[in-house]
Amino acid sequence: MKKRLTLLGSTGSIGDSTLDVVARHPERYSVYALTAHRNGDKLVAQCLRFQPEVAVVGDAETAARVEAQLKTAGCNTQVAYGADALVQAAQSGQCDTVVAAIVGAAGLAPTLAAARAGKRILLANKEALVMSGAIFMDAVRDHSATLLPVDSEHNAIFQCLPRDVAEHGGVTKIILTASGGPFRTREPATLVDVTPDEACKHPNWVMGRKISVDSATMMNKGLEVIEAHWLFNLAGDRIDVLIHPQSVIHSLVSYADGSVLAQLGNPDMRTPIAHALAFPERIDSGVAQLDLAQIALLQFEKPDYERFPCLALAMQAMAAGGIASAALNAANEIAVDAFLERRIGFMDIARTVDTVLDGLSNRTPSGLDDVLSADADARRAARELIAGRGLLAHAANRTGSVDR
Ligand code: NAD
Ligand code: MG
Repeated sequence: MKKRLTLLGSTGSIGDSTLDVVARHPERYSVYALTAHRNGDKLVAQCLRFQPEVAVVGDAETAARVEAQLKTAGCNTQVAYGADALVQAAQSGQCDTVVAAIVGAAGLAPTLAAARAGKRILLANKEALVMSGAIFMDAVRDHSATLLPVDSEHNAIFQCLPRDVAEHGGVTKIILTASGGPFRTREPATLVDVTPDEACKHPNWVMGRKISVDSATMMNKGLEVIEAHWLFNLAGDRIDVLIHPQSVIHSLVSYADGSVLAQLGNPDMRTPIAHALAFPERIDSGVAQLDLAQIALLQFEKPDYERFPCLALAMQAMAAGGIASAALNAANEIAVDAFLERRIGFMDIARTVDTVLDGLSNRTPSGLDDVLSADADARRAARELIAGRGLLAHAANRTGSVDR
C-alpha cells in the first residue's frame, strides 16, 4: 500500500532530499502534509508539485501569503499555522509516516505527537530526542510507533545491528564516525576569528546552517552520541567517536568475536532517507554508487577534545542525565544563533554552553512540560550571558583588542 507522509520541515535540506527521493517513487509515496517556518515561497512551489492536503507555516502573515498564492495557482491545499497545526499534521489519521526534519527544539512537540499517535517516524531532528530522551522512547514503545533513524551515522548503525537477536547479540561497541568539520586541521589559536560562512562550509555535506555550525564545533557529534544512547539503548562507554575525514564510512558496529560491520556510501542524505522510507525494502535514492578505487584513501584519527570542547560537554551532559542534555541543547541553540548573527565569536559557543551547564541544578524531568521548562531556563541563562558578553566584545573592539 502507498505510504502517506507528513514532512515536518519540508523546506530545509533534509526536506529537499526527502522530496527528491519521494518524487522518484510516486507509486510508493504520497504527501499528506508539508510544513515550513517562514519560507512561504518554497513551500508554495512544493505544494504545487506534491499536492498535499495540508500545508503548515509558522505565523498568520506567512499563512495568508501562502494561501493567496496557492489559490491563484488553483491548488486545493489547506493552509494552517502555528504549533498546534504542526501537531495536528503529525498525528493526523490521514498519514502513516512522519519525517521529522524540523531543526532544533521546535520539532519536539510534533515529533512526540507522532510517536503518541503510533506513526512510523523517520527521525532527522536529533535535538528532539536529545531533549526528551526517555520520555520520547517510552512514547514510541507505549504507542507501538516505529522509529527509524535518518541521521546518517545512526542509520548506518541501524543497518549494521543484528535484527532478531535480543540484547544486541554480541555487540560490544558502536563507533560513530565524524568528519571533523571544516576546522579539523586549522590552527586552534585562529578559531576565535572564524566567520559564520567559514563555519558553514562543510567539507563533505551540504546542510542547514545550524547543523553546519554544530559540525564545525563538533557539538553535532556530541548530540549524536546522546541520540545513539537513546536510540540503541547503549551506555556512554559503549559509544566511541572516530574522526574519518572522507565521510565514506558512516558508522560501525563492533562485535564480541572481533568482527566490525560498517555501512559505506557517498555522503548524500538521500541514502539514509531512502533506506528509512522503504525499510525493510531497498529503493533507488538517486545517489551514485560508491567508487572506492576513485576515493583510494580512507583516514582515521582520534577526536581532539581540547580543540572541540563541545564534544566533551555533550558527553558530560549525557553522563549527568536528568535535564542536562535538554539544557545543553537549548544553550547551544541560542549560542549558535548568536554566532550566526555575529554577536559572539566561534569559541564563545562552547563557553556559553559550559557556563549554562555549570549553573544548572539538575533533576529528573517529570514529563514533557518539565523538559520544556528546563529548555526555557537554559535559553534564558544563555541569552543573559551573551547579552553581557556582547557588550564586552563591543567595548573591546573599540579599544582594538578582542575579548572573546
Ligand atoms: P534546515 O535549516 O535546512 O531546515 C529546517 C526546517 O525546519 C525548515 O523547513 C524550516 O522551515 C523548519 N523550521 C525551522 N525552524 C522552525 C520552527 N521554529 N518551527 C517549525 N519549523 C521550523 O535544517 P536541516 O539541515 O534540514 O536539518 C533538519 C534536522 O535534521 C536538524 O535537526 C538536523 O540536525 C537534522 N539532520 C540534518 C542533516 C543534513 O544533512 N542536513 C543530517 C542529519 C541530521
Ligand atoms: Mg549525522
